[in-house]
Amino acid sequence: MSLPTAAYMNQNGNIVRKEDCHVFAFSNAMKYGVSVFEGIRGYFNATNNQLLLFRVEEHLQRLLLNCRIMKIDVDFSYDDLFQELINTLNANEVHETVHIRILVYLGDDEAIGSRRGAEFVIGFVPMPSKLDMPCELKVGISTIMRLADNAMPPRVKCAANYVNNRAAEIEAAERGFDGPVMLTSQGYVSEGTGSCIFMKKSGKLITPSVTSDILESITRDTLITIIQSRLGQKVDERFVGRTELYGAEELFWCGSAHEIEPIVSVDGIAIGSGDAGDTTKLLVSAYRKAVQGLDYQSENWITQLNLK
Ligand code: PMP
Repeated sequence: MSLPTAAYMNQNGNIVRKEDCHVFAFSNAMKYGVSVFEGIRGYFNATNNQLLLFRVEEHLQRLLLNCRIMKIDVDFSYDDLFQELINTLNANEVHETVHIRILVYLGDDEAIGSRRGAEFVIGFVPMPSKLDMPCELKVGISTIMRLADNAMPPRVKCAANYVNNRAAEIEAAERGFDGPVMLTSQGYVSEGTGSCIFMKKSGKLITPSVTSDILESITRDTLITIIQSRLGQKVDERFVGRTELYGAEELFWCGSAHEIEPIVSVDGIAIGSGDAGDTTKLLVSAYRKAVQGLDYQSENWITQLNLK
């Protein structure tokens, strides 16, 4: 285990030591990758001794929608998952910013078409926010094509899909990049391996549409709201051509774990001035306020958990 998973996890409503959290080796989760998951940020607030969960409701709703799309029959509800997530955090001594993982998977050895045997597991790892000093990334366009919606829909955050992302990550690292940008089978810009992309061009903010084989990212949605309120601009959601990226004034990607990371070159071509742009910096600071619960209170993005 390279990241220090917190000591206690939750398996099907039982708090267990992480060493005792097991999945059957011949389960459909293992054999066929039938597992959907979410990654949710909890931001530690030392002053109030609270953990601020960011958009936990949207994450859990997406998880349950993904179960429906994957035809995984579940006998637990949103309220059950929410309560178990809180129980998991309370079972550990949390005093830092964390990344909470929740997986729903088929735990039995069944025929490939089975919908039965849904189980869940919840745990978390420490993951400091990088919003005070976001990394500036040099990325490359991947030769690995993004999965297509009518094959393995990227809209569904299914574990099996991530074989596609992994291949692109490995290729990017081998080519000396900080990460890949994946293209759709039609050659349009899709997304990163754990993030969605925004570009500034002629002063306008543009992001690949939800029909560009992306995960419908919650951070992307957050930024669409922030851009509307802070810049008075409606984000243009459309197909984006690969070579449009090279001429962008600014570029960044976003996701719950990545938060917002400026992209300063693509395929060795500098973007704008070659540094994080002003609009990107403004959005980083607005997003930081949002996740700290200091702004956008009316959006109800934050769930406060009082810590022991
Ligand atoms: N795309 C992919 C492929 C991802 O795995 C993620 C991370 N969940 C994102 C985009 C960003 O999504 P979100 O903002 O909902 O975390």
